[in-house]
Amino acid sequence: MINDILEYNRQFVADKAYEPFITDKFPAKKLAILTCMDTRLTVLLQEALGLKNGDAKIIKNAGGLILSETDSAIRSLLVGIYELGVKEIMVVHHSTCGACHMSYSEFRPHMLEHGIPEDILSEWESKGVADWLEGFHDTEGSVRKTVAAIVNHPLVPKDVVVRGFIIDSVSGELTEIR
Ligand code: ZN
Repeated sequence: MINDILEYNRQFVADKAYEPFITDKFPAKKLAILTCMDTRLTVLLQEALGLKNGDAKIIKNAGGLILSETDSAIRSLLVGIYELGVKEIMVVHHSTCGACHMSYSEFRPHMLEHGIPEDILSEWESKGVADWLEGFHDTEGSVRKTVAAIVNHPLVPKDVVVRGFIIDSVSGELTEIR
């Protein structure tokens, strides 16, 4: 697959197909979006929100979550705010998210099948891997919790607007969570 992609890429560049996408590093809409890595959103999210290349900083992880105050997602948001001029942040979780119901108890047998030794799993269990890989179960609650993690972060300035949403993974319809 990756070799096919490399071949496509050579042609893309040779054809100068990149020209419609040329922009700079500053988000034109002064917007950052924290969302899920779900492949249903890869193109749908930008299309449904009317965003073009260069409009917004889009930060993705499994679920669109912030797990701690030093989480990589909050680090990216701080870079967006202080380095790139972000003034508004949208947290966008989505319907039927895979990270909703995931659980370490389901991962564990697959990890063993893939050759991760039992003693390594025990070591990671003592480090709290089960909580780390646990799904969030309640999508609305998760949006509120993520918005709160940003709003209440000591390094996020109060003049940044943070709002939470759930996007329909099929229709792209946004519902605000207050
Ligand atoms: Zn998801």
